[in-house]
Amino acid sequence: MVDKFENLIGMNIHEYQGKSLLKGFGVAIQEGIVADTPEEAVEAAKKLNADTGTEWFVLKAQIHAGGRGKGTVTETGSHGVVLAKGLDKVADIAKGILGGHLVTAQTSAEGKLVSKVLIAQDVYYPGEAETEEFYMSVLMNRETGRNIIMYSPEGGMDIEAVAEKTPHLIFKEEIDPTVGLQGFQARRVAFNLGLSGMAFKQMTKFVFALYAAYEGTDASMFEINPVLKTSDNNIIAVDSKVNIDDSALYRHKDIAAMHDPTEDNPIELEAAEAGLNYVDLDGNVGCMVNGAGLAMATMDIIKLSGGEPANFLDVGGTADAERVEKAFRMILKDPNVKAILVNIFGGIVRCDRVAQGVVDAYKNIGDIPVPIIVRLQGTNAEEAKKLIDESGLEVHSAVLLKEAAQKVSEVLA
Ligand code: GDP
Ligand code: MN
Repeated sequence: MVDKFENLIGMNIHEYQGKSLLKGFGVAIQEGIVADTPEEAVEAAKKLNADTGTEWFVLKAQIHAGGRGKGTVTETGSHGVVLAKGLDKVADIAKGILGGHLVTAQTSAEGKLVSKVLIAQDVYYPGEAETEEFYMSVLMNRETGRNIIMYSPEGGMDIEAVAEKTPHLIFKEEIDPTVGLQGFQARRVAFNLGLSGMAFKQMTKFVFALYAAYEGTDASMFEINPVLKTSDNNIIAVDSKVNIDDSALYRHKDIAAMHDPTEDNPIELEAAEAGLNYVDLDGNVGCMVNGAGLAMATMDIIKLSGGEPANFLDVGGTADAERVEKAFRMILKDPNVKAILVNIFGGIVRCDRVAQGVVDAYKNIGDIPVPIIVRLQGTNAEEAKKLIDESGLEVHSAVLLKEAAQKVSEVLA
């Protein structure tokens, strides 16, 4: 329910980590223990059995992507969420999940390597007949600048489909920041979910605790799908998808420590080490820009000229030859790139220096297999254009953004 960019700007954590945060705020959760190996998984199951008495377990691959229940582990054919009806099943199921690549509707075709599995109590036991699955999330409504609780009686796997086909089944409760979440709002949530009696009371408690967790962790999203009404009328979080505002991480050292570097995009990491601000996107036109605002505008221009940006890349204020070369190498790692648009405004940095950087980088890298369109504007722009035009390289120069966009659409055609 949250767009790709939103997920990229905050820090994502795993389901088991989100659940431990929730528990700390008094949210009832499906209890579980995380494991790195099949042996640890068995130990975890034994401990859960001792703590809760459960004899059925569910094993859940821990990756930063949803849709695990319907997803498949490439190497073994196992799903990402599997029920273990007995302790003797746990080791084999864990073997089918751990170390494999889980492909879901939210991952790439290669999937994500699973290095941890959560062993949790089967909370649907003894059967699914008396349980109910709801959807609930807390996030910021950017149009009103207020937090909202979004919820639906149609919980479970595919909330996007519910939003599309039956939008009237998605409810929203907007919170006034001056007074906070009100009792009548939590009760309205429970009412709209069709609850009564003990389950009604448990749900209002759940809503308050969930909202406290969202506020208390400086989260930009808490998504719980499903929220479960158990057969004995308790309300618990079965899943958790959490995104934390990374500008606030300095005051949550414990949450910052939850960062899992294996989930980071390797190209983005390499870029960060080189001091470049790079975000991988799905399109075919690579962009190299100085300044975040200009990078945004450049992405718009690419779209207007019929392309899709392959990345967001801000080379920063000092676009010297070395950085330009690093940036080219970064962009060229993406096999989808069909053209590269360099759009630099020379304020502090002189355009002719950037142009020289482009020419040098081109020569150093050798065969660049895609056309490059360079638009340099600002200090010494004319000299820069001349430098590029006379370099003899497969580089198209432009002075106006309009020309640059035109050239992008020409080379894509
Ligand atoms: P997701 O597919 O990545 O969103 O993972 P979830 O944690 O939401 O699990 C997917 C589905 O597995 C849920 O919608 C449930 O239907 C099912 N599931 C999760 N936990 C249990 C459990 O304890 N028992 C049973 N029977 N099913 C479960
Ligand atoms: Mn889920």
